[in-house]
Amino acid sequence: MHIVMLSSECSPIAKVGGLADVVIGLSKSLQEQGHQVNIILPKYDCMQYDQIFDLQTVYYDLPVMYRGEWHVNDVMSGVVEGIKCYFIDAKWYKHFFNRGKIYGESDDIDRFAFFSKAAMEFMFKVNIEPDIIHSHDWTTALVNILQREIYYKEGMNKPRLVYTVHNFAHQGIAHESVLDDLGVGSYLIPQECRENDHSIFNFMKTAVVYADYITTVSPNYANEVQLTEKGMGLQYLLNKYHHKFSGIINGIDSEYWNPKDDKYLSDHYDVDSVDKKYKNKEALREKFWLRNEYKPIVAVVSRLVQQKGVDLIKHGIFYSLSQGAQFVLLGSSPNPQISQEFAEVKELLNDNPDCHLEFGFNEALSHLVYAGADIILIPSLFEPCGLTQLIGMRYGTVPVARLTGGLADTVYDVEYGRAPEAKRNGYTFIDATKPGVEFALGRAIHDWFEEPKQFRKLIKNGMKSDFSWEASAKKYVKIYKYLHSQM
Ligand code: ADP
Repeated sequence: MHIVMLSSECSPIAKVGGLADVVIGLSKSLQEQGHQVNIILPKYDCMQYDQIFDLQTVYYDLPVMYRGEWHVNDVMSGVVEGIKCYFIDAKWYKHFFNRGKIYGESDDIDRFAFFSKAAMEFMFKVNIEPDIIHSHDWTTALVNILQREIYYKEGMNKPRLVYTVHNFAHQGIAHESVLDDLGVGSYLIPQECRENDHSIFNFMKTAVVYADYITTVSPNYANEVQLTEKGMGLQYLLNKYHHKFSGIINGIDSEYWNPKDDKYLSDHYDVDSVDKKYKNKEALREKFWLRNEYKPIVAVVSRLVQQKGVDLIKHGIFYSLSQGAQFVLLGSSPNPQISQEFAEVKELLNDNPDCHLEFGFNEALSHLVYAGADIILIPSLFEPCGLTQLIGMRYGTVPVARLTGGLADTVYDVEYGRAPEAKRNGYTFIDATKPGVEFALGRAIHDWFEEPKQFRKLIKNGMKSDFSWEASAKKYVKIYKYLHSQM
């Protein structure tokens, strides 16, 4: 099959969070299984251009009708991790995608609405008519209505539309005029996609209604969003369309995230040579000026936003130190208040030889943290899938996680729960409270000191688990094929 992914992120060239990892990981796995995959992205100025091969312009002056006028764009192609990608270069207004960052601009709605239209227009103009158009999150949600209301009617009627929600917290809420700007009459917006003020509509709801199939990134989150407030207002719609909605657990790119030959590490290891992991622990301590003592390192690698349980992370820092562990954090926040709070904690602990907080997004450093730490803490208030627990386990770093969303689908407590012994891989807690964190983190630190054999078993169980994309990509293929069998 031919699948075209439309996305605002793609690892390793344009990454903010898990969406980037999923888009490239799923694409690579689909390609390995014999399918043709392309990814279309905006051409940002802030991409990792050294990771794009054979970058060249393949279409000059692509006209796109926007706000009643034709605007010209160039389209480039390049190869990322073996996948042929296309990049929409907004030539008429270079500033559109050249902001030095991917999100967080006051006109994000317009930027990604325009991108969705330009990507569709490009496919239409050059006769790329895939079997599947697979769009992701609010940023490319308008692709579905554009395809059905414009391009389908122009004859592009082969593609089936699959839409994956990576996080229901960001939906894209805008005035209906955004659709008029794109040349789709706003009168077409279904009533159920409008907010209380009827001139305001919801990108994500529109994508859900128009999609042939909707997925989210774990089975447990798929249940939660239908049954609880985690659906963030989409519960009703997801229940109504439950016949075309399910959760498929994310994988990780097990080639990229591989302690055996990770290009960012100088000391490699695998499940049969776990002791070599500790060379990375030394390297991490050296990097972060931590003292070299017989202690576990607890780590957090995260966007610092409310969803991730920022208060619980802060509590985790002080609690770990009080239990004789070391703590490292690699995190960045788009929220100035949260950044300030963590800056204060850093200031407070500045002279502590057992703690280091590193702010910013740093891919290379994240690999060293995964490889060097013993425990990874993920106290999320909600978590669609979560990748850091999977990456942690791949690197022999035991997760301490709150049982929510995809964390509950992937982390199995050493003593509580019904998982068979060989599957148990971490420590879990239910309540998003300080005692909740202490209940799980306390046991993990205790076992590291007092029950090293048991702790090592967890390390090995995690490292032996198969979190590769293969099985999940097969599930997507099943959906793709099912949609075509219905035609
Ligand atoms: P989310 O998508 O909500 O941010 P996930 O757990 O699904 O959370 O994915 C997070 C991804 O982003 C992982 O690959 C993680 O390693 C990476 N990441 C998060 N924060 C940082 C950071 N500060 N530096 C480098 N990588 C980070």
